[in-house]
Amino acid sequence: MKKRIGFIGLGVMGKPMGKNLLKAGYTLRVHDILKEPVRELVALGAKEAQSAGEVGENSDVVITMLPSSREVKEVYLNEDGVLKGIKEGCIIVDMSTIEPMVSQEIAAIALKKKVEMLDAPVSGGQVGAMEGTLTIMAGGKEEIFNQCQEIFEALGKNIYYCGPIGSGEISKIINNMVLAICMQATCEGMVLGTKAGVQPKILFEIMSKSSAQNWALSTYMPKKAFKGDFEPGFMVDLMYKDLNDAKKLPVYNS
Ligand code: NAD
Repeated sequence: MKKRIGFIGLGVMGKPMGKNLLKAGYTLRVHDILKEPVRELVALGAKEAQSAGEVGENSDVVITMLPSSREVKEVYLNEDGVLKGIKEGCIIVDMSTIEPMVSQEIAAIALKKKVEMLDAPVSGGQVGAMEGTLTIMAGGKEEIFNQCQEIFEALGKNIYYCGPIGSGEISKIINNMVLAICMQATCEGMVLGTKAGVQPKILFEIMSKSSAQNWALSTYMPKKAFKGDFEPGFMVDLMYKDLNDAKKLPVYNS
């Protein structure tokens, strides 16, 4: 029988991820502080939970997709948080991008209730979340990762086991540090080249086939900018948080 999944945080990423889990046939119980995304998923067959605690009590696997370390800590550890009434043997999977030390802290508290945790942040943006093609990088015990493989396959295409708890977040933070540079360079290069007189599509074609090729270019230009879609997806404050988290990474001397 398929696991009962609880999902908390139905924003830019969480809402389409929830939809993909429903499409894959999972029973889904959802919670968010905003009512609108909850209503949308309920209309597609999900059950509504009034609190994070209610999600914890009624799920085999709880997935969270929240903005930052602060919200993740609140949602798991608050008085009416996920861990309040959670049953032994449940698995919690935090897919938000947060500090690895916070994942480790929550995992240690969960373990006292015989609940295992994976940190499994994602890359691929809103488009990847909608298309179910995210890259997922997970940390935690390998046997727990294996138990969640089928769930991850409903959400993403490239799924990696990175090592002990926190390793997924370390991988993700490094990825975003490099991505930030590529995104900024792509935006500035496209605007500068266009203002200097070359058609944006020509610039795009050239860079796509030469050494400036990168993910931000190949995703955001054809799938958003060239379609006139300038709706924000990955917010600047989230990237700012990721870059700050990179500065907090523990550095080990060998
Ligand atoms: P978002 O702000 O769009 O969504 C977060 C959701 O969490 C919102 O719906 C919000 O109402 C809800 N929320 C906040 N506090 C809550 C609480 N206490 N209880 C219940 N719900 C609560 O953010 P997002 O863009 O979906 O990003 C989520 C995470 O994924 C972040 O850590 C981000 O860095 C990461 N991420 C984002 C992208 C992207 O392209 N947007 C890509 C990869 C990873």
